[in-house]
Amino acid sequence: MGYVHPAGAIPHQPTAEGAVENSPEFKRNAQRLWNAVRNGQERAEAGNFVTRGGVYTDLKKEQNLPSGGGRIVFDKAPESTLAQIHTHPRTGGPSDTDIRTAKDHKMTVYVVDSDGLHAVDPAGRVTRLYTAVGDLFDKKAKASTK
Ligand SMILES: [Zn+2]
Repeated sequence: MGYVHPAGAIPHQPTAEGAVENSPEFKRNAQRLWNAVRNGQERAEAGNFVTRGGVYTDLKKEQNLPSGGGRIVFDKAPESTLAQIHTHPRTGGPSDTDIRTAKDHKMTVYVVDSDGLHAVDPAGRVTRLYTAVGDLFDKKAKASTK
């Protein structure tokens, strides 16, 4: 008999993950990505990383192959990456590759597409956070706070 990891031994992450998608910075960044692919009309995907310090890395955009099954290939994640965010053309939420990426790299992967916003947590669990991109981007002018 080998050693068996006791169930429940996985520590809870201190949870910047849970809140980051509600921040104005996250929404602004998501909108920038979405606009970079003309709101999902292009086959390309755009994406970047956010660090635990709240820094968003440069936007990266890649064309999908005509055969579909597009993926975005990122350079290595920066130190202290909290999450990766990227767009998909059309609908469907996270792909199998996205789920693998989240698990392999122990980071949250956010996907923005016409279905809204999905998150894949480091355990590979998919959550739908917003059901429409419009909800995510909240166009309502916030009475010009500055
Ligand atoms: Zn993806």
